[in-house]
Amino acid sequence: MLRAVTRVTCSLCPPWAGPSVRMHSSERAPKRSLANRVAVVTGSTAGIGLAIARRLAQDGAHVVISSRKQQNVDRAVTALREEGLSVMGTVCHVGKAEDREHLVATALEHCGSVDFLVCNAAVNPLVGSTLGASEQVWDKILSVNVKSPALLLSQLLPHMEKRGNGAVILVSSISAYMPHVELGAYNISKTALLGLTRTLALELAPRGIRVNCLIPGVIETAFSEVVHKNEAFWNQLKESQRVQRIGQPEDCAGLVSFLCSPDASYITGESIVVAGFSPRL
Ligand code: NAP
Repeated sequence: MLRAVTRVTCSLCPPWAGPSVRMHSSERAPKRSLANRVAVVTGSTAGIGLAIARRLAQDGAHVVISSRKQQNVDRAVTALREEGLSVMGTVCHVGKAEDREHLVATALEHCGSVDFLVCNAAVNPLVGSTLGASEQVWDKILSVNVKSPALLLSQLLPHMEKRGNGAVILVSSISAYMPHVELGAYNISKTALLGLTRTLALELAPRGIRVNCLIPGVIETAFSEVVHKNEAFWNQLKESQRVQRIGQPEDCAGLVSFLCSPDASYITGESIVVAGFSPRL
């Protein structure tokens, strides 16, 4: 059973604070605990999304896993359940409206509501220049990487709002700050997510939902093989890299769990780089 959200009047909170935003230190859950919360993570059967799903579940959340392929969903759910974690899974290609509707319906049917949405799924169908991208490529990249997080959130919002203290994490890329010439349209889609984070943070703060952004650097996954297995690129990157190793999916997962947790209840609209270096230094 999901815990009901307790709404109390509190002498320590300012009078303008609505019930969904009231939370002072004595009311906080135990540190880093996501117990009794429900998380939906897109693109979560491999790589960074799978590591995020695992970490949120390890920290107590019930996690709804999803991706395009049923066999990948089955494999991830089985693996995480064998680790004793509370997860369920369903197919969802985030670019398809019917799949998004199905994901929302499944999460609500099985979990009652949703507290956290992690928009991790993304595509990059083209390695090449921005102006070399066809209209079809633009449509695919913008639909999956930029539109789908907003559309999925719009469907989940009424349910997240009812629970109070919800959190959304968008997954951008270091290419938003340091565009790579071979990743033209993808760079732009990931830059758009920085704007989406800031705009949604403003719009949703009064509704008790925080919106933040994870910006991974080069993380060792199938998605980044084209980059991290390219010796020339990697040698060049190592020069700006302060932490001298390639990132692992788990390097991103802890930040997402923190951003969902009560410890981050005063953090919204932030974009945080997890890259072994800072693009600002
Ligand atoms: P990955 O290892 O290739 O995993 C991608 C996951 O997303 C898989 O579970 C895949 O499963 C699923 N997926 C792919 N397309 C999808 C779609 N249209 N709808 C739903 N699920 C989909 O990728 P990753 O490296 O972990 O990347 C995850 C995120 O981090 C992406 O947003 C990416 O842009 C970002 N990122 C990655 C790096 C890096 O170096 N790895 C760097 C910066 C940013 P199915 O095949 O079953 O759909």
